[in-house]
Amino acid sequence: MPTPPLWAPWRIDYILGAKPDGCFLCEAAAGPPSEESLVVHRGERASVLLNRYPYAPGHLMVAPHEHVGDLLGLDEPVHLECASLLRRAVGVLSATMNPEGFNAGINLGEAAGAGVPGHLHWHIVPRWRADTNFMPMLADVRVVPEHLRTTWRKLRTGFQEETG
Ligand SMILES: [Zn+2]
Repeated sequence: MPTPPLWAPWRIDYILGAKPDGCFLCEAAAGPPSEESLVVHRGERASVLLNRYPYAPGHLMVAPHEHVGDLLGLDEPVHLECASLLRRAVGVLSATMNPEGFNAGINLGEAAGAGVPGHLHWHIVPRWRADTNFMPMLADVRVVPEHLRTTWRKLRTGFQEETG
């Protein structure tokens, strides 16, 4: 059976809303983990943060602290930390949200759908077979901020309690 399409109507806020002048990934990278920045884990060279306009609950991103959009120009130690954080994010999501699968990857360039083409970021989207059944429950945009805070706490704790 094909994977049901994701439906995330609150993304219209993002599509229609004014984009901040600054780069939100740089802003998030500058500070410690917080509910405001949605950063759940800060590494040495890269951080893990929740997507404010998620395709699914627990939609995480891994971004280097440095504002760089060119994957080939990314220093190897930074790339290795991003790869390591991506794997750890899958581990923490597995432990805290019990997903049945993941979409994980990177959009390179605007033509490929990169929302912030100047700052590399990997997406990790947990998936459940029942995606389309419970998504309408979250469809009301007013529900999303609370959902984000709850998910942030869960994943922040997950990273803090991570073993191995
Ligand atoms: Zn940036």
